Amino acid sequence: MDYTPKNSEHPSGPVKVNKLTVVVDRDLCIGAATCLAIAPQVFVLDNEAKAIILSTADGADDAAVIDAARGCPTAAITVHDESGAQIFPQIIFLTISRSVDILLKLWTIH
Ligand code: SF4
Repeated sequence: MDYTPKNSEHPSGPVKVNKLTVVVDRDLCIGAATCLAIAPQVFVLDNEAKAIILSTADGADDAAVIDAARGCPTAAITVHDESGAQIFPQIIFLTISRSVDILLKLWTIH
């Protein structure tokens, strides 16, 4: 397996994967590896346990990329289509996800 990043200057993107643009928010990525399990041609963890986008990513179909983004427990993967429209996360999902995250943090503090 070739673990070369598609973009060596920005291994976590933004990177074009076929007609999609993919970026991993390294601050949100917790190295859970769900994306690797769903789209092993697209994602791998680097030595900081953050997801990067592989040079082999164009071999995956769009559905696998989007499924990987959907499977990320922290919504760290953002996908735009060729028109620049954000496919995932959708704004409503992002709002709910971040709200739950904030509530969990508040709950663990008290
Ligand atoms: S699924 Fe999300 S948190 Fe897990 S490695 Fe991939 S981008 Fe990071």
